[in-house]
Amino acid sequence: MSGMSGAENSRRPLLSIVVAMFNEEQVVDTFFTEVDAAIVPLQADIEYVCVNDGSRDGTLAKLLARRTQDTRIRIVDLARNFGKEAAMTAGLAHARGDAVVVIDADLQDPPDLIAQFFAKWREGCEVVYGIRASRASDSIAKRVTAGAFYKLFNRITLVPIPPDAGDFRLLDRKVVDALLAFPERNRFMKGLFSWVGFKQIGVPFVRRPRAQGQTKWNYWKLINFALDGVTGFSTVPLRVWSFVGAFVSLLGFAYALYLIVRTLIFGIDVPGYASLMVTLLFLGGMQLFGLGILGEYMGRLYMEAKGRPIYIVSRVYEDKAN
Ligand code: UDP
Ligand code: MG
Repeated sequence: MSGMSGAENSRRPLLSIVVAMFNEEQVVDTFFTEVDAAIVPLQADIEYVCVNDGSRDGTLAKLLARRTQDTRIRIVDLARNFGKEAAMTAGLAHARGDAVVVIDADLQDPPDLIAQFFAKWREGCEVVYGIRASRASDSIAKRVTAGAFYKLFNRITLVPIPPDAGDFRLLDRKVVDALLAFPERNRFMKGLFSWVGFKQIGVPFVRRPRAQGQTKWNYWKLINFALDGVTGFSTVPLRVWSFVGAFVSLLGFAYALYLIVRTLIFGIDVPGYASLMVTLLFLGGMQLFGLGILGEYMGRLYMEAKGRPIYIVSRVYEDKAN
């Protein structure tokens, strides 16, 4: 069905390979060598959409040099570093394929899998995503926190995301168009990919260690990324405060009753500094925490309300030479 219906049957489908690159000069050449080799057997025309996400190294120069020999390469040069989610969105917007593969530049996503993705697409699947069968290349801490995140996320959101599915995937044109129609600025792509629905299937793979260069993520970024994900797809953290508040009020009411009765029977008793301080600090902390959660949503509301573009393109290198 997908991309193969009607008149499209008579021509070879166009497959776009979308890759976001931020300071990846060390892997650019290996990336193309490996992906080129992997796509040879495909019955498809290929285009590369390379998004230069404000790299401060020679990534753009490498891409431009590559483009002089390979006209299938299109380069979208962003005005600065907008982050991977925005860069991917830019890549999807500039892809023209009947199907689009999103892949990391560092070859952690094995390019051989593209052929399997493509075969599944030809069978009618509209989203084919890679599932990391093993996270052996990640640290124990990252594995544990990632596992906890998926559990929490899937418990409090309506549309679960498959654990250990990364961004490495193939999307049918219909899915790409659906994603591009999303007006939101907070692009938690893993969530959006699931949210759109369609016929989805996972293909397990072993994630390799990074070919060269360094990861662009640190724990601070990951925590914020997780916050974006949860707040973008669930209002449970907001609602939970109504319940906490109701529960604490009930407790307070019961305690007040107890105090009144006790005072009536035994008279006034002055000590109680410790219990006073504990309640004060506990409630104060809870209130600040609740306010903080409110702030998280407020801030995001503010960002969305401004309606700024998700990314800004400095220049697109396509079609005619340069
Ligand atoms: N990336 C990007 N913009 C950023 C950070 C990363 O386009 O601000 C790209 C990066 O070049 C790579 C992909 O996103 O192609 C995945 O990044 P990385 O390998 O650093 O993440 P990890 O694999 O460690 O999660
Ligand atoms: Mg990586």
